[in-house]
Amino acid sequence: MAEQPLITTLVVGPLQVNCYLVACPASRDALVIDPGDEGERIAAAVRTAGWRVVGIVNTHGHFDHVGANQTLVDATGAVLLIHERDLPLLQKAQLHAQVYGLRAAPSPAPDRLLQDGDQVAFGTLSCEVIHLPGHSPGGIALHCGDHLFCGDVLFAGSIGRTDLPGGDHRTLVEGIRARLWPLPGETIVHPGHGPDTTIARERLSNPFVAGLVD
Ligand SMILES: [Zn+2]
Ligand SMILES: [Zn+2]
Repeated sequence: MAEQPLITTLVVGPLQVNCYLVACPASRDALVIDPGDEGERIAAAVRTAGWRVVGIVNTHGHFDHVGANQTLVDATGAVLLIHERDLPLLQKAQLHAQVYGLRAAPSPAPDRLLQDGDQVAFGTLSCEVIHLPGHSPGGIALHCGDHLFCGDVLFAGSIGRTDLPGGDHRTLVEGIRARLWPLPGETIVHPGHGPDTTIARERLSNPFVAGLVD
């Protein structure tokens, strides 16, 4: 069996985003996925674990997932990665937070723009980028071993909202069916909000995906 990553989850900010620390057990190199807020707390958790952050990845550009990018870049010196089609959202994150009466620090510019099929390496492990538009144009899931980090694409018993600018319900549902349902059923799904689930459970019972009429 392939080596599996070490995973720590921190729930951050007023919108309760799941920020994931994902580390290679052999090298202790790590990724930070969606540092949405509370950057100092995330950086402290990385230090306590004794991990070296080699990449900061945003599953998409919504402000609640990117608000602590600057703090994490400053604390770790790691490169920042996001799908190319969510660059406009990243650049406007501060503005979007204000619409909700919330605050997000401006993000630094990304160092690398991701595309479908890219690999994001950390130590001897790597995540494959799966482009899943529909919640946002450049939404991605990161697939690593038995784990899938899917941002606001798929939740336990639900899917991401599609009423925000650039959202599209049919595109989101079709992407989930075409790209996520073929994954092994035991794959553990780590969403951007709320509890973990599995591909098997969602494939069987997620009402928002099963309900689409072809
Ligand atoms: Zn979102
Ligand atoms: Zn979100």
